[in-house]
Amino acid sequence: LVRALNVMKSFHGNEVLKGIDLDVHRGEVVCLLGPSGSGKTTFLRCINQLEQIDGGRIWVDGDLVGFREQGGHLHHLTDKQVAAQRRDIGMVFQRFNLFPHMTALDNVAEAPVQVKGVGKKEARAKARELLEQVGLGDKPSAYPAQLSGGQQQRVAIARALAMEPKLMLFDEPTSALDPELVGEVLRVMRELAQQGMTMIVVTHEMGFARDVADHVVFMDAGVVVEEGKPRDVITNPQHERTRSFLQRMR
Ligand code: ATP
Repeated sequence: LVRALNVMKSFHGNEVLKGIDLDVHRGEVVCLLGPSGSGKTTFLRCINQLEQIDGGRIWVDGDLVGFREQGGHLHHLTDKQVAAQRRDIGMVFQRFNLFPHMTALDNVAEAPVQVKGVGKKEARAKARELLEQVGLGDKPSAYPAQLSGGQQQRVAIARALAMEPKLMLFDEPTSALDPELVGEVLRVMRELAQQGMTMIVVTHEMGFARDVADHVVFMDAGVVVEEGKPRDVITNPQHERTRSFLQRMR
């Protein structure tokens, strides 16, 4: 579903991604691990076109991301085409970014109505189902400020799912949460994985990566150092950089 080839990204001459390759198959969960600053977040943002890549190519579901190829040349997509590509990708951030003046239900129902032109009634019915799915069936009328961080993050997941994405990107979804609230968010993500959602997850939760990921990728300083099955990479890392990172995580 996702293929990245030699993806490069610099900020003001600082090379953050130095040629990242990645393949994610439909229904797979891939966890991106690595120290702070290794480029994990930037890579996710490139897939979702929150950043523009400087080199390489990314495809999502067979479509080249951000460009069209013609006569051997790459042409930037129009804003409208970019928006259409981004509609199919759900993203959940470290900070929940809910609309503070809207209820949980309205947060979830908003995008399908505004972006996809779904009828209000239908969007709200679907939003109710999604809130049920993330364990918040009793909180449709709550405003973000009345919810815990874990509950807000679950609303954010429901909101992303409301667009019926092909792919879900999670950028350290539990790292801003109090420790006792991490489990409820990981549980929802685990269920989503079991339902067959294709997911790329940047996380420091090694237990989640070990149990849920089909494939883990260890990044450091803008390159993929090591990747494979979680039991190989996490339990039996081959590279010194992976080993020392994992040791620090314990
Ligand atoms: P973290 O776990 O801290 O989020 P990460 O592996 O996700 O780390 P990135 O957030 O991708 O790493 O950041 C990689 C590097 O890119 C960092 O040095 C960061 O300062 C730099 N960087 C990221 N975004 C920008 C930006 N918009 N402008 C300039 N530099 C940036």
